[in-house]
Amino acid sequence: MTEKNSIETMIIIGAGPAGLSAALYAARGELNPLVFTGMQLGGQAALTHTIENYPGFPDGVGGPELGDLFQKQAERFGARVEFDTVTGVDLTERPFKVKTYSNEYQTRTVIIATGASSILLGVPGEKELAGRGVSYCATCDGWFFKEKEVMVVGGGDSALEEAIFLTRYATRVTIVHRRNELRAGAILQTRARENPKIHFILESVVKEIKGEDKVTSVVLENVKTREISEVNTDGVFVFIGHTPNNEMYKGQLQMDERGYLVVDSKMQTSVEGVYACGEAADGEYKQVVISAGMGATAAITATRYLESLEK
Ligand code: NAP
Repeated sequence: MTEKNSIETMIIIGAGPAGLSAALYAARGELNPLVFTGMQLGGQAALTHTIENYPGFPDGVGGPELGDLFQKQAERFGARVEFDTVTGVDLTERPFKVKTYSNEYQTRTVIIATGASSILLGVPGEKELAGRGVSYCATCDGWFFKEKEVMVVGGGDSALEEAIFLTRYATRVTIVHRRNELRAGAILQTRARENPKIHFILESVVKEIKGEDKVTSVVLENVKTREISEVNTDGVFVFIGHTPNNEMYKGQLQMDERGYLVVDSKMQTSVEGVYACGEAADGEYKQVVISAGMGATAAITATRYLESLEK
């Protein structure tokens, strides 16, 4: 553990592809970065069963495995990865202050890589039945639905990718989407449509999730006809997008109207010495390779900033 009054050179908040790539570059630049993992080591990528579009892995790579590799590589060059969660930051004074569950730190630079979290449907029954049939992670919970029927809500890449994954376990996967066109890319659409276990209910939204101890059915509304129907299911997987985990920086850093941190092409935020990368700052691409690139960029910019202070 760091001495309470010592000043860190760099604190990285978050240990997904962005944070750990920043850590790798900063460690190789001998900045001795301190990384706080929060609750999700490996970030959202670690919740993905297989990542097929991260370069260098022609046969795909497991999400958790890729997270482990990122961590090992950063640690090999001296990054310190701590399993602690940052609860607050003060970026108004230098050195910056970072508070975690177990300690308080001062630091000359901060790299924010706190990622994004799943958006909830916000319908009755969702919160009550979370973990009892309602899930936001097919990789984590798919196994519990062996030989069962599940519903997937959403029409984007996440929904289709996870629906395809769920067919390993479930006998039937029904994708419920609010429009009659899917948002997902062509490859995933074709794969989903060709999968005999996948069915679609289009132009429909979930109004309620029902069940006592576990999910038993879902109430749907057809958005065109307003017709209400109740469909039996054992599980509901929600993939309707993400929201950045940026609450902590409100009032201290500039954000866009959706809450993403505003950065320039060098990952510089509105405060010099503070950088943001990955999905905390990118609501558009959500790709591991892009987050990793943003992390590397942030670390290089921070290195140059620190060098400029020494001149
Ligand atoms: P997304 O692309 O924003 O899709 C969210 C889906 O949920 C959309 O189909 C949207 O409907 C629907 N939706 C949103 N709010 C809803 C609500 N309240 N009720 C019902 N449906 C709702 O999110 P994502 O699928 O998580 O993907 C995010 C980004 O990550 C995208 O850029 C995607 O390409 C990328 N991604 C890529 C991969 C990959 O490359 N393999 C995998 C996963 C994600 P509408 O279509 O009507 O808006």
